[in-house]
Amino acid sequence: MATIDRVLSCPTLPSLPAVAVEVLALTRSPDVSLADISRVVQNDPGLAAKILKTVNSSFYGLQQPCSRLDRAMSYLGLQAVKSLVLGFSLVDATRGVGNKPGVDLRQHWRRTIFAAAGARQIAQLTRAADPDEAFTAALFQDIGILACVAALSDEYVSTLATAPEDHDLLCRHEREVFPFDHTTIGAELARKWKLPDLFTEVIRKHHAPDAGGLTYGPVVRIAALSMYLSEVMSTPSASSLLTRLATKAEAWFSIPSDRVAAILKSTASSANELAKLFEQDVAIPNASLIIAEAQDALLTGQIQMQRETDRLRVETQTDTLTGVGNRRRFEGGFANAFTQAKKDRGSVCVIMIDADNFKSVNDRFGHSAGDAVLKQIASRVAATTADRGLVCRFGGEEFAVILRSTDGVRAREIAEEIRTSIASKPLDLASVEGAPPSLAVTISLGIGCMDDASGEAATQEKLLALADQALYAAKSAGRNCVRSATLMPEQPPARRASDSKSGGVARSLRHEDGVLRVLVVEDDPLAAKLLSMLLQRLPNTEARVATSIAAVHAVLAGNDFRPGVAILDQHLPDGRGVDLIQEIRSQTPDIRKIVVMSASISPEIESTARQAGADSLVSKIEMCSDIGRWVLSLLGQEAKAA
Ligand code: GH3
Ligand code: MG
Ligand code: MG
Repeated sequence: MATIDRVLSCPTLPSLPAVAVEVLALTRSPDVSLADISRVVQNDPGLAAKILKTVNSSFYGLQQPCSRLDRAMSYLGLQAVKSLVLGFSLVDATRGVGNKPGVDLRQHWRRTIFAAAGARQIAQLTRAADPDEAFTAALFQDIGILACVAALSDEYVSTLATAPEDHDLLCRHEREVFPFDHTTIGAELARKWKLPDLFTEVIRKHHAPDAGGLTYGPVVRIAALSMYLSEVMSTPSASSLLTRLATKAEAWFSIPSDRVAAILKSTASSANELAKLFEQDVAIPNASLIIAEAQDALLTGQIQMQRETDRLRVETQTDTLTGVGNRRRFEGGFANAFTQAKKDRGSVCVIMIDADNFKSVNDRFGHSAGDAVLKQIASRVAATTADRGLVCRFGGEEFAVILRSTDGVRAREIAEEIRTSIASKPLDLASVEGAPPSLAVTISLGIGCMDDASGEAATQEKLLALADQALYAAKSAGRNCVRSATLMPEQPPARRASDSKSGGVARSLRHEDGVLRVLVVEDDPLAAKLLSMLLQRLPNTEARVATSIAAVHAVLAGNDFRPGVAILDQHLPDGRGVDLIQEIRSQTPDIRKIVVMSASISPEIESTARQAGADSLVSKIEMCSDIGRWVLSLLGQEAKAA
């Protein structure tokens, strides 16, 4: 039975020439000088001549021819000299291995020399390792094969002959016959030869380059990649080998696939040079043809890959029913728009859209009718929005529109256009069985706006929640309408003494006794009366009306009504509502919410309210629109026309 020990103790096993052993010993010492190495190499005139020849070959491409070894060495440096000494020693030491009947190591040397030349190119290109070290490592990676051939002869040669073409599958094939494979034997031999640890690891791991815990990972992967490179060269039209090469080159070293053919080409020419120096016949048949084919295949592959990526991107981001963006598209688009707005200190709005009473469409006319309605809503919303924003299906019968660099006023205009595009003309259901030919449908819209004044604490989640609240407000207001809200900055802690008690957690507007106390500051007696009446109809709620700033002072001084909420009209007979905010906060430490009301909402009033510390700003017109609706429903279309 062939065991590792039997292989390693076999007398026919090659041994390293003395000069290589000496050079290795010298280079292990940190303060070795080139002169020391030069002396050792000079002792082997054959080796010295080969090194000189190599230095002057196009493999190194020195500017000036160099006739003296010590000079050549100082040009090349320690690493290069070591790699050449080891390289030539390996070739010498194993020369006898192939000289047996039935053994043909030409294929092995072709692969190995090509790999070594390729490894040097890859290391140079990627700067992931020393090129000379990578060269030697690649050259030595398969010494296990030579050792097995030398020690086991026929037993191993027949195994090699029946091995799969793909060298990566050789280890498994070997292990079906032997209790080892060429990587274990090679690594043991490297240890015996006292090769540096780096080589031992490359030899042991070059078929497991993605394994964890590698000390010399980049060199191991360069060696593996160089072997893939050489396999492409020796196997014409093997597209799977080419794909593996390109994929790994990209994954391991970010080498773009259009560079791969160029690497193949330059490796082919330097491998030819190297083969001459090593006196090996490794001429690669049809090299230029293979390279040309590879170039074509890589180019087509690249184009196909790009197309596929584009198609997948579009596909994975599109809602299949409606054709607008899906939730994933929304998440990405919203994150980008939000980040950009924050960066530019600009604005961004999001419109949440929900079909009104949509469930009843399904219930009355079936799911297909519901689907048709959703499709048409999506296409009208997308057509109306056009290039002003990104329309996505948020989920179910909800859509969202992201408006970059758009302020609240503009967003309202767009939202109103979108609402009208649906409400103004019934949808066409002629093609849906069991549904009426057309169906009037409406949508409700909620806008959340963020701008520079929204403060540092503004987040995507808060903005989306705000749009949701606005949508909810639109639903509550009777549907088929637009509501909007702008994100306000958080109040500084000093102005919100009440926060300290609650530890910053959102609290109920009600006091501890469960009563909601609302101070309404409104000078218009009718509006004040309406508001306080409505408030008092809410469960467990008290309202107190003040009609001027002076009246507010009186309430605060009186101490018998501590409001949890204050609703302040901006225009009061003796001043501005916003000017009361600070005062109310300081005198009523547990005030929960301060709302400012204004007849018209403009960016100026928004920023004034924010700076003064209001929690929100509401439009009086909007507040009254419910009454407006009620009036309309009472008087019918005539009132609208007038
Ligand atoms: P509201 O005006 O308050 O929004 O009422 P609504 O009926 O529109 O809202 P609700 O959330 O009660 O119902 C939404 C319905 O939308 C329920 C669900 O079955 C339906 N739905 C969600 N996704 C689809 C879909 O892809 N196709 C169809 N046909 N129906 C859907
Ligand atoms: Mg809904
Ligand atoms: Mg709905």
